[in-house]
Parts: sequence; C-alpha cells; structure tokens
Amino acid sequence: IQSIKPLLGDKVRQWLATPRPMLIDGKWTPAQSGKFFPVYDPATGEKIADVAEGDAADIDLAVRAARKAFESGPWPSMTPSERGRIIHKLGDLVLEHADELATLESIDNGKPKHVARAADVTLSADMFHYMSGWTTKIEGKTISISALAAPPGTQFFSATRPEPVGVVGQIIPWNFPLLMAAWKLGPALATGCTIVLKVAEETPLSALRLGELILEAGIPPGVVNIVPGFGETAGAALAAHPDVDKIAFTGSTDVGRLIVKAAAGNLKKVSLELGGKSPNIILADADLDLAIPGATAAIFFNHGQCCNAGSRLFVHRSIFDRVVEGIAAEASKIKLGHGLDATTEMGPLISEVQYNRVTGLLASGLQQGAKAVCGGAGFGGSGYFVPPTIFTNTDPSMRVVAEEIFGPVLVATPFDEADCSLVAEANNSIYGLAAGIWSTNTAKAQMLANRLRAGTVWMNCYHVFDAALPFGGYKQSGWGREMGQAVLSNYLETKAITTRLG
Ligand code: ADP
Repeated sequence: IQSIKPLLGDKVRQWLATPRPMLIDGKWTPAQSGKFFPVYDPATGEKIADVAEGDAADIDLAVRAARKAFESGPWPSMTPSERGRIIHKLGDLVLEHADELATLESIDNGKPKHVARAADVTLSADMFHYMSGWTTKIEGKTISISALAAPPGTQFFSATRPEPVGVVGQIIPWNFPLLMAAWKLGPALATGCTIVLKVAEETPLSALRLGELILEAGIPPGVVNIVPGFGETAGAALAAHPDVDKIAFTGSTDVGRLIVKAAAGNLKKVSLELGGKSPNIILADADLDLAIPGATAAIFFNHGQCCNAGSRLFVHRSIFDRVVEGIAAEASKIKLGHGLDATTEMGPLISEVQYNRVTGLLASGLQQGAKAVCGGAGFGGSGYFVPPTIFTNTDPSMRVVAEEIFGPVLVATPFDEADCSLVAEANNSIYGLAAGIWSTNTAKAQMLANRLRAGTVWMNCYHVFDAALPFGGYKQSGWGREMGQAVLSNYLETKAITTRLG
C-alpha cells in the first residue's frame, strides 16, 4: 500500500480532509496560536491530517472550562444514575462507530485495523460500559468514633463521603490511543470529575473523533476538553497548571518523573502508569503448545509497543533451545504490512524517532555480544518496519536486557531451577508492571507468582485485560492502578463528616 486515501470510506476521508480543531467547553476550537501540526501514517510516511496544536494558552482555556463545568455546570448536580446512563451511551456510540474508529486507529498508529476493531475499540467501549455502573455504587461508610476529648456521654454520628477530586489533567501515549483515552476518561467521568485530556502528538485522531461522540452522548460542555499538542508545551503546561487538582499520566518513566516535578507546584494528586521490562517465565513442566505461541504474543503483540510486553523470557534450560526455536518459527510467520491490509498481523513502529531508538538498541545488543536468533535490524525504506527479534547470549549488563525497548525485541535466558535465584533475576529490574508464568503445576506457579514484584501476573496466558481488573505497577512502573474498582480512588477525595447528636 503506497497511499491510504483510496482505501478510506467517504466519511473518514472527508473527516481527515478538514483540519481538526480541539474540544474546549463543548466547542470545536482552533489553537489560539492558529497553528496546526501534521499527522502521518507510520506505514507509508504519508501525511493524513492536520491537527490544532495546543499549547499553554489552550491548556489554560481548557482548564478554565473544566473548572467552570465542575463548579457550576450540570455535571456535578446530576444524579449518579443520569451520569451513568450518559457514560453508558458513550460506550454504545463507540461500538456503533467501531469500524470508523478502527480505521482511524490503524492509519494513525499503524496497528492492523482488525486488531484495533477486536481489541482497542471493543475494550474502549467496555471500559465506558463498566465504569457507567460505578456511578451509582460509590459509597462512604459510617464509623463509630470514641471522641475521647469530648465531654463524657456526648454522642456523635460520623460518616465518610467520597467526592470527585475536581479538575483532572490526563496525558496519554500513542500505543493504544483510543483505549488509553477510555481508561482515563471512564473513571474520571464515573466519579464526577471534569477533565482536560492531552492526547499524544503522534496519534490524536481517534480521541478527537471520540470527542464528537462525547458531545453526542450528552456529556455537558466543559466536562471533557481534549487538547492535542506536544509534550514539552501542552503536556508540561497541564502537569504544572495551578488549577488542576489531579494529573493522571501514562507514558515513559522518564516523563513520569517530569510530571511528578511539575505537579509539585500545587501538590496536585498524581497517578502514573509507566514503563516495564516484564519477565515471562516458562517452567520445565509447561505445556509448550500453549507457552510458545503465548510467549510470542506476549512480546510481539502491538509490535512490542506495550508497557506490559513480556520482553524478558526465562526458560528452563532443558527446554530452552526448543522454546527459542519455536518462538522464532512463530515470529517468522508474522506478516508485516500496512494496517489496512486485512492479512497484516504486525504494522510499523509509530515514528522515525522510535524506529531509530529501537534499531539503535538492536545494534547495541549485537555490539555487546548478544546473538540474534531472528531479526536484529530494521528494514529501512519507507515506513518504520522492524522485524520480530529474539536475542540469546545476553547478560544483565546489556542495554537490551536492562532497558525498556518498546519494540518487537525479546531477550531469552535459560535458568536451572525455579528457585530464589530465578525470582531474583526476574525481579532484577527497575520496573514491576507485569509478569508471565507458564506451568502445568498450578501450586508451584502460584507460589512463584506471589514472589514476583509486579502489578499483574498472568499464568498460562498473557495480555488478558479486563475493565474489572486493576492494572498498574510496582517500583518505577507507576503509582496507583487503572481500571477495576481500584482506579476510583485515583479520582476521589474522602470527606469525613461528624455530627454531634442531641
Ligand atoms: P512514549 O515513550 O510513549 O512516547 P512519552 O512519555 O514520551 O511516552 O509520552 C507520553 C505522553 O506524554 C505524550 O502525550 C507526550 O506528549 C507527553 N509528554 C512528553 N513529554 C512531556 C512533558 N515534559 N510533560 C508532560 N507531558 C509530556
């Protein structure tokens, strides 16, 4: 595919032909600077859209709109069930426009359209549906207190009241653009917050289309504001804004640190979902018919551009060669191509920057003595395609072992015993996002799972996500959890109210 234009339906083609403004206070608004930035198809390098370039001035307008909507709009005074119905309707609208959203996701991010349709769009809709149910189930407690300093016999009634944290800034990455928007918006809406969402500069399209569905669903003006723009300008302004009560960030650990520093000005609450270098462990008794394709998908799904990718493979020495050969054979069958080609299984990396980063790391791996069982270098030419790569002969000092690559690169290491030394090696990372274990001995796998310092452990499966399951990181993989009941606490304050009786 040289150009996507002939492959798009009329509706998407027309939508892309108009420069896309940002959503502020329920209105589609150009950037105050008048600037637009180009958005590219990473498979061809072709420009596909122009998008308004938000900066600090637009962030400020958006924060004001969100503040007004929080303080005096209809959103905070709406009943929880009304709010829930609107959020549910948004989920329905995402499903109604599934094909269009999957097309936008594919041409903007590079992922196969059929994957975007089956995973990203479906899970996004489910997130809104799941979160819509929480609006009516956010409850406080009644608490018996001792009030030791009060005059004897005085009685009190004490209760807690969870309240929305207020105006929330949300900054999301490019690897799952629509899904990350849904993960962020869903719980913030369910708890009654108002939001300024800063989408990734590489992939603003699906979230801007979602913005139209947000208005169609009946979410009042100013409740969700969407500002596309660059990290150092729009993102940094949002993280530092003095009238933002909370910032939720998904992205790299390095930028996470910048967010924390920027948030320190007004001590806004912070939640972070950051990088990973997740261990995936195949025990000697594993069912290899399950483990080999499972470990292949664990690293190569979404071209390795998953924070939870199973990027460090540990295999019992007795089956090491068989497993590595098996994964290499599976990897060689993965068909790379344009996301709009229905036969494509893996698209390009997101950008030239990522292509250069990942291929630079591949070169460093080879230079430091790792052996590439398959892959090992980018394809070059147009589009940012990198083949699945498996490195063996690695050691923990190599950059490819220690650093998050965010590309289709697996490092495989044999182990002798599923004992403390394996646990120590698996935990030998600054990250602690996810882990995988493959074994037919459930008790043994469970005991190993308990010792891994990771927010998610998948046993005999990988990449299983659900709106009901909390997801997030230990160590430098983040603060707080996304999804499930757990995420609600990111967006709630607890007020304790005590009344003297009589
Ligand atoms: P990735 O490795 O996924 O590109 P980044 O952490 O660079 O991760 O980007 C994730 C998001 O953070 C993007 O929306 C990006 O624009 C934003 N971002 C980048 N730098 C900053 C910054 N200094 N302050 C706030 N946001 C930023």
